[in-house]
Amino acid sequence: MGIVIRKPLIQEIQDDSFKNKKLQLFVLRLDLLHEYISGNKWYKLKYNLEEAQKQGKRTLLTFGGAYSNHIIATAAAAKEFGFSAIGIIRGDELKEPNERLLFAQEMGMKLLYVSRELYREKEKLMKYVNEAVDINEIYILPEGGSNDLAVKGCREILNNIDINYDIVCCACGTGTTLAGIALSLKRDRAVIGFSSLKGGAFLEKEVQNYVGMEMHNWSVETNYHFGGYAKSTSELLDFIKGFNQKHNIELDYVYTGKMMYGIFDLAKKNRFIPGSRILAIHTGGLYKNK
Ligand SMILES: *Cc1c(COP(=O)(O)O)cnc(C)c1O
Repeated sequence: MGIVIRKPLIQEIQDDSFKNKKLQLFVLRLDLLHEYISGNKWYKLKYNLEEAQKQGKRTLLTFGGAYSNHIIATAAAAKEFGFSAIGIIRGDELKEPNERLLFAQEMGMKLLYVSRELYREKEKLMKYVNEAVDINEIYILPEGGSNDLAVKGCREILNNIDINYDIVCCACGTGTTLAGIALSLKRDRAVIGFSSLKGGAFLEKEVQNYVGMEMHNWSVETNYHFGGYAKSTSELLDFIKGFNQKHNIELDYVYTGKMMYGIFDLAKKNRFIPGSRILAIHTGGLYKNK
């Protein structure tokens, strides 16, 4: 099972902010992998889809907020690989689904809205799920698609990269992608995760749970959340616009825009050793007008 992964597309960013510091910046364009199963989400889903198939489950069920990229990717993957899909959506005030949820629905995902209180209490939520669907039929993907099989998939993100690099940068939500990358890195390389959420402490715990205590090749930057998950500022939006104008690469304000802003800021503050080759991962997350 798989989508065809062509040779990974890597672009060098020509920017004086890096040249002047003797740094090189490259972008790995995972956003170009697939129209809807975009970026890191394919890697997170890959082995879960295989496992679901192995278990003979015909329906994927997962959880997410109204703006979750994971919901869209799961809906698209289900459609592409012949599964049914159910999305448990946080917030029963969403009587009218937004554009993204409508899109998930168009791809065949059945949406069930639950209250924020119910969504928060995982035991009660699972009881609800048990009553709402035939549990024997479904393969459950946790919220954000974060599990061991997702980490296993993310270990393949840097396969077949034919440039040299020292530091990898990625955007973080659950930290699953960061964990997979950390586990796959050769010695002398390191990965920095840029948290898109406020409060990165839980994120470090998550990553540590996956990679173990003895790995020290990863770190989390918590200063670039711009107010929290899916929040933004005019400064961030201006940066994203400027970056797109200059380098013809679109970034989103939830994940990759914050990461890229952070990379430029760390360069400005001389946090990278001169001579470093930085590989930033464009994890996707662009679903405009869909
Ligand atoms: C989901 C997502 C992430 C976060 O991935 P995690 O594995 O949850 O940390 C980063 N970037 C984009 C564009 C995403 O959609």
